[in-house]
Amino acid sequence: MLFCLLSTPVGAFVVPSDFTGSTDYLREPLLTAQEGPERLAAEDALASLEFDTALFHPASDLSAQAYWHKIEFAPVDTPTELIFRLSNIMIDELDFYLLQNGEVVRHWVRGDTQSWSPDAAYASIWFPVELQPGSTHQVLIRKASEGPLLLPLRLMSPKQFEQLTETSFKIWAAAAGALLILLIHNTVTFLLFRYPAYGFYILFHSLVFLSLGVTQGFGPWLWPMAFNQFLGSIILTLYTLSAWCIFHFSLQFLQIRTRLPGWWRYRRLADLAFASAVLVSLVVPEYAYATPFSVLQGAVSIYCLYLGFKILRTGFSPAALFLVAWSFFIVGAAIGGMVFRSQLPFNTFTEHALLISTVIELLCFSFSLTQRTRYLETEKNQQLLTSPVSGLANRNYFINHLHRQHALPNDRVHLVLIQLSGITELSEAVGPESAMKASATLAQRINQALESEPHILRHRLPNLSHSNVIDMDQENLVFLCDHLDSPGAIIEHLEPVLNQTIHLSQLEFQQLFSIGVASGDLNRMDVTTLYQHAQLAARANWRSTHLWSPYQQDLQSRQHRQLMLVAEMSKAIRNHDFHFEIQPKIVLATGQINSGEVLLRWHHASLGRVSPADFIPLAEHVGLIYQLTQLILHQVLSWMQQHADQLQGTTLAINISARDLLQQNFAAGVIELCKGYGISPGSIVLEITETSVVSDSGLAVDNAALLRSAGFSLSIDDFGAGYSSMQNIHRLQPDEIKIDRLFVSDLDSNPTHQTLCRSLIQLSRDLHIHTTAEGIETEEQLKLLSSWGCHSGQGYFFHRPMSPEEYLDLL
Ligand code: C2E
Ligand code: CA
Ligand code: CA
Repeated sequence: MLFCLLSTPVGAFVVPSDFTGSTDYLREPLLTAQEGPERLAAEDALASLEFDTALFHPASDLSAQAYWHKIEFAPVDTPTELIFRLSNIMIDELDFYLLQNGEVVRHWVRGDTQSWSPDAAYASIWFPVELQPGSTHQVLIRKASEGPLLLPLRLMSPKQFEQLTETSFKIWAAAAGALLILLIHNTVTFLLFRYPAYGFYILFHSLVFLSLGVTQGFGPWLWPMAFNQFLGSIILTLYTLSAWCIFHFSLQFLQIRTRLPGWWRYRRLADLAFASAVLVSLVVPEYAYATPFSVLQGAVSIYCLYLGFKILRTGFSPAALFLVAWSFFIVGAAIGGMVFRSQLPFNTFTEHALLISTVIELLCFSFSLTQRTRYLETEKNQQLLTSPVSGLANRNYFINHLHRQHALPNDRVHLVLIQLSGITELSEAVGPESAMKASATLAQRINQALESEPHILRHRLPNLSHSNVIDMDQENLVFLCDHLDSPGAIIEHLEPVLNQTIHLSQLEFQQLFSIGVASGDLNRMDVTTLYQHAQLAARANWRSTHLWSPYQQDLQSRQHRQLMLVAEMSKAIRNHDFHFEIQPKIVLATGQINSGEVLLRWHHASLGRVSPADFIPLAEHVGLIYQLTQLILHQVLSWMQQHADQLQGTTLAINISARDLLQQNFAAGVIELCKGYGISPGSIVLEITETSVVSDSGLAVDNAALLRSAGFSLSIDDFGAGYSSMQNIHRLQPDEIKIDRLFVSDLDSNPTHQTLCRSLIQLSRDLHIHTTAEGIETEEQLKLLSSWGCHSGQGYFFHRPMSPEEYLDLL
């Protein structure tokens, strides 16, 4: 803006000897003379100074010198009235003299720092020239200013002048009105939102309004002349301040702090430069400060444009309007500069180009602020409703927005829940960020794979993209489909995607997953209920061999029961509500009882007898198993202590969970406990259930080794039912294996199980490990097992589990 304001062109003009009264701008160099050290009166200047057009150009430059210009009028035949008009009122001292026959007949003072005389309500710089027939006329103009700004003069008839004045008024009224309304609007918006960008915008806008008032001439029309003159005297300071404001406005508007933090750091340096520039502008004469200021102004423009483009490229769309606003400013400034260099004619349009472009500029900035508010709103909603990692719709979307988004289909929809496992472990192994990325990668792959499925409900996001998958959290992904009898086909298509490995920097990750499906009519049922059903189905699917499981009514009651069991179990542990039974073990060769297995019993007041097959896995799952094991150990050891005599020469087998073995001081604790009760470890067998995976953590192996060396016997329970039997033999080095009931129960009729049992017994003999067959119910089973050399047996055929007292009697 400034180039143009500073550089308001100095029109040059000659006296047209055949002047007809309709001359427009005068462009030719004027007759010019430089004033000496003394200030001259007009008559003396006319008489003593040497006027020459060659001096006109130096007079138009930045200079502290005073110059005189002379215009001579050709004689007229009839009285002629002309109007001189300039648009600029920025010259410090500006005196116009009309001389008739060498005598001053009129004198107008119109300088920026002078009190105007004769006074005029109309603020522009104009004055009438009356030419009389038979006289010679000259106009002398004395100009003294640090700035160069003698504007292009227009010489026109009173009628033309009237028209021009009217046009100017209209332009001023429109521009000033628009600027004021815009200012009020943005001030109110600022007070409501308190966005810093608005604050800087308002400052910038106000400064521009004040300086335009001065330079474009409408200021005195709105405020007192003295104030106008004051503003005129600090105009370059105003420009510097407005450059400062627009700089900060740009930084705030473009969110440099978050989007280009590297650049944000340098703003303090810029502040320092601006502050110095403001100081300099106040103390240095205008002509000396003009060039440094232009450099500063140019630098700020280029910098802000550069940042605007850079930010636009990151997808911040309001930057586009921001750049348009800057373009208007540049166009306006360019027109001003070109008029100054006489590359464009001076006319009503070019004269007001800066004013108009500034209004448009401020309007565009204002629009862009509104657009930015909308953009931030969208961005905030987007953040609220999508996962930051996968970019897909999130839990919040699911709970609060799903039902608003869709005209929900009238018939059934299927909600498919994909539960992932291993993310927590992955997070422990490679860090939470990589784990989150792995889960997001999978979610995006599924989202992509569903893109071509026609029956998927797609979720429109605030930024107008859509999401097929809802990323509930790292471990739960959901999608919905309708118009299908079953989503089975879609899920089958997804299977290869789910089985794809995910490449992380340190390792390849294979996700484990289970899929639950719940179906229902969303007009009649809450989507969260549907989700809950899908969760139950997915939980059931972990134990299933099918790719996915549908929700079934009993799943929910089962889940209720499980939760209730957990609560009751904790209570029962605290109250020692458990007791145990013993099932004798028989040496097959002799038929003698040399041992018994302790089996936990829980009789609940309202639930009745609860089977350990129900509550033990649950206790393992929720972590109650540790307390339960300790409880049973105490009870059994104390009972053994009381009946040491009767139990002489026999052993007791106690079941422990593989999870117990993963406890740091488990073995040491058990050894200590036996010592406390005075029980020899040699009389105890610890049965470790094989189906609970003994992870290859060294901890289990260490515990097992310590127990063995202390004298306990180790037994692998349910042998053959787990999937790492052989490995467990190697790791735990048991003294006994117990062949799972599964293989014994149909031994008479199942040749495969016969082979298996025979081989197991053979293998154990070779490894010097005892075998015990569980669940012997018939004589045939007993015979077969005996014939293969099985060492011991246990089962209803011999004895059912019995109370400890009965067991002692039996012994
Ligand atoms: P298990 O260790 O395999 O125990 C043998 C299970 O088979 C017992 O069921 C027993 O009553 C049953 N059983 C014995 N002989 C026969 C037979 O001839 N036919 C049939 N059908 N069943 C027979 P129970 O008492 O219901 O125990 C179930 C499971 O609960 C046990 O399987 C064991 O894994 C676990 N368990 C029991 N007590 C404890 C304990 O104190 N601690 C731990 N950690 N687990 C225990
Ligand atoms: Ca057992
Ligand atoms: Ca067993």
